[in-house]
Amino acid sequence: MSYQRILAALDFSEGGGMAVRRGRELAEKYQAVLHLMHVVEFIPPVDTSFGVLSPFEVDLTDQMVEASKVRIAELAGKLGIPDEQSLVVVGSPKLEIIRVAEDIKADLIVVGTHGRHGLAVLLGSTAASVVNHAKCDVLAVRLQE
Ligand code: AMP
Repeated sequence: MSYQRILAALDFSEGGGMAVRRGRELAEKYQAVLHLMHVVEFIPPVDTSFGVLSPFEVDLTDQMVEASKVRIAELAGKLGIPDEQSLVVVGSPKLEIIRVAEDIKADLIVVGTHGRHGLAVLLGSTAASVVNHAKCDVLAVRLQE
């Protein structure tokens, strides 16, 4: 068994770097291409009290995308990953991780898991959903609490 294209999904949480490290180890082991991705969760441009567009909230999503691009570029730089292999997208992490994995034809997705979230007690909600829906292998890396 060997992997050629690995997608590591990172949420920038404190323990989340573990999944990236594991992805990198596997990429080295299999001489695979490693991609990094982060999903900025969409903040609806609606002021809930008035139900109208709020430019402030639209800006907030844009700012989070820009900040995430800087962070992922720093990390990619440290790991020697070319810019075009790191990606920031807006949407639902569960859906976007699956979509990007299919898009880049990843044969392994690496996500972290805390193993403490309600519905998906064992895997955490994002990890559980990715395991359920991915068309390729998924490695759920147990994160340190
Ligand atoms: P969670 O189920 O929210 O605890 O997340 C578990 C794992 O899913 C994280 O360690 C990441 O690998 C991935 N993940 C969660 N949120 C995001 C996100 N916004 N962008 C990219 N990956 C994410």
